[in-house]
Amino acid sequence: MIERIAIVGAGLIGASIAHAARESGAAKSIALYDADAGVRARARALSLGDVFDDAAAAVTDADLILFCVPVGAMAEAAKAAAPGMKAGAIVSDVGSVKQAVADAVAPLLPEHAVFVPGHPIAGTERSGPDAGFASLFKGRWHILTPLGDSEAEKNAVATLATFWETLGARIDVMTPARHDVVLAVTSHLPHLIAFNIVAMAEDLESVTESEVVKYSASGFRDFTRIAASDPTMWRDVFLNNREAVLEVLGRFSEDLAALQRAIRWGEGDTLYDLFDRARRMRREVIEAGQDTAAPNFGRDTGGEES
Ligand code: NAP
Repeated sequence: MIERIAIVGAGLIGASIAHAARESGAAKSIALYDADAGVRARARALSLGDVFDDAAAAVTDADLILFCVPVGAMAEAAKAAAPGMKAGAIVSDVGSVKQAVADAVAPLLPEHAVFVPGHPIAGTERSGPDAGFASLFKGRWHILTPLGDSEAEKNAVATLATFWETLGARIDVMTPARHDVVLAVTSHLPHLIAFNIVAMAEDLESVTESEVVKYSASGFRDFTRIAASDPTMWRDVFLNNREAVLEVLGRFSEDLAALQRAIRWGEGDTLYDLFDRARRMRREVIEAGQDTAAPNFGRDTGGEES
């Protein structure tokens, strides 16, 4: 058990950590800070922990400090909290991009703090403190991306691993660069595609918006859930994982062009083989416990087509 954690940024992820840490007993006490006075008021109303009006004051006695702000706000948050950090404090974050956060935050921290970036592969399309819930990290991966292999960093990785495991997560360790490429494929590109499809459907003149909404069960609805994610968070993800996203986007565009060609020339075998490969990947995701095998993601659709 950690004596005291400080959470900087009390939105979906910060509030979920507070709930989960209390429920699991992972931390004896919880301090919180958020730049937004309205969010601080909600964090107090929800009894998430001791809410401070100042970042440095919030982290003063903390053994573990977690930055839970958008990727583009990490440096500003670190700068504000750094003067309050005690010797030996472990500092981590939950940002969806790792190399840019590591580069921006590491130089701003005092030498007596130990920084190990991290990313919980868990979330929803909602944001803000009211969206937080204790079971968010249960059965989900938490990726730690240590920047070196000093004794202090190894100890911090072990402490962070125990903390996140107590919250219900499973731990993986990799370099920040590796993380950014993997997540560009599994998360960033799918979000970009969802944002694009949903915005395109809204723009299409030949289909009225009411028809798009009315028939949304036919595949479109699942894209709208992903596309409902926080615009600030996702703007920051794409601005800060530019290279990896452009790399996989290039590959995606080439493959899409090949699909377009196969449709144009009636190459049924090409289409079938690709769809079959994709279907097998879905089975692997279910076998790995990352989703339910229930039809329509377990939704009760009242017999609706999907
Ligand atoms: P969120 O619900 O919008 O919460 C972020 C909070 O941080 C907001 O209350 C925001 O206030 C506050 N904030 C912004 N700048 C700040 C600063 N300089 N100091 C202190 N507080 C500040 O976002 P979230 O979904 O929890 O995401 C937080 C982080 O987790 C992001 O880095 C994201 O990439 C990562 N993440 C998100 C998910 C997900 O599914 N949502 C999953 C894994 C990781 P304002 O709203 O007033 O700006």
